Amino acid sequence: MMIALPETQSYIACLECSLCKKEYQLDELNTYATCCNKPLIAKYEFSSHFHKEELIFREHTMWKYFEILPVLKRENIVSLGEGMTPLINLSKLGNKYGFTDLLMKDESGNPTGSFKARGLSMAVSKAKELGIENCIIPTAGNAGGAMAAYCAKAGMNSTVVMPRLTPAIFKQECEMYGARLILEDGLINDCARKVARLKAEGNYFDMSTFKEPYRLEGKKTMGYEIAEQLNWQLPDVIVYPTGGGTGLVGIWKAFHEMLEMGWINGPLPKMIAVQSLNCAPVVRAFYNPRHWADEFEPMPSIANGLAVPYPFAMDMIQDTLESSNGFALTITEEEIIAGVKEVAREEGILISPEGAAAWKAILHLKKQKFIEHTDRIVLLNTGSGYKYLENLSV
Ligand SMILES: *Cc1c(COP(=O)(O)O)cnc(C)c1O
Ligand SMILES: [Zn+2]
Repeated sequence: MMIALPETQSYIACLECSLCKKEYQLDELNTYATCCNKPLIAKYEFSSHFHKEELIFREHTMWKYFEILPVLKRENIVSLGEGMTPLINLSKLGNKYGFTDLLMKDESGNPTGSFKARGLSMAVSKAKELGIENCIIPTAGNAGGAMAAYCAKAGMNSTVVMPRLTPAIFKQECEMYGARLILEDGLINDCARKVARLKAEGNYFDMSTFKEPYRLEGKKTMGYEIAEQLNWQLPDVIVYPTGGGTGLVGIWKAFHEMLEMGWINGPLPKMIAVQSLNCAPVVRAFYNPRHWADEFEPMPSIANGLAVPYPFAMDMIQDTLESSNGFALTITEEEIIAGVKEVAREEGILISPEGAAAWKAILHLKKQKFIEHTDRIVLLNTGSGYKYLENLSV
């Protein structure tokens, strides 16, 4: 059902350095806060005229939250129908392991098969609004496909730099969407180096995680949707497979915005970051905040979205875990594969390896008594398992 969107305005006020709070103007082409070499954060001037009760009449995509998103003119929205994904009761797994309220926010139905669609729909829409024509991105897989698709829709050029080891389907989709695809040896940080070289030679707008201010605004809509779908009662725990940290930080940002607007009351959920044992900078930083990068040898993971060795927003990830009373833990590659198969067999959903890591983490958290079996738990399945099948088959 398509419902006309009301004539309303974005409440965005400015961008702000995440460390020193210096303001950056909206009409300029901003990347990150050069004052402190940190991400930029969108700030809003919330209005009491926006009532959450209106949301029920709106379009069934993440764009229903238009007022609290950064796009100024609706005609600049580049949408493929992203967001408003289902919150599914994992009743069989819940029964099997003794959880009474186990829910999964299933992002696999998004355009291009992952929640990256949210961030890239937002970033490409803003890029269109700012007159950008050439976009470039280093990616572990899903972000590249999403950027290529939204650039296709927007009529913009896209260049995607991806690790050579990524499964073929991630490369094929980029080419199908008309992107220029460049393969690099190593992980996403090696792709980022290649992007830096290409930018020095040509005119590209860089859509790297947190080096562009608006992907975060797309990802935060998951937080709004979780609240709305639970009738504005937040869960006890959110378990999130973390790579660059956009989703974790974005959901946390959404909760604070909703508190400010009076849409929800505390307490807020504990935020849990899950990573692969092969590449776990966030878990290392959780235990060793200052020297986590020492003697660190990151390796690839079947959960390629988690293989982000040096997240640019590490401070904000640490902040989210700390201020939510959260936790961070690793899962092995074997557990991840077993997790995909278990959820498929029990629940009939072929989740991504990243989502499977989050599922397996829940079992560890229960054993360690960090969560109770009666807690309301929301696990994020960030993508579709279909894209990973070549590495998952028995
Ligand atoms: C990118 C990605 C992640 C990690 O996302 P962040 O929000 O940047 O931490 C997790 N799962 C999948 C499927 C991804 O593509
Ligand atoms: Zn600053």
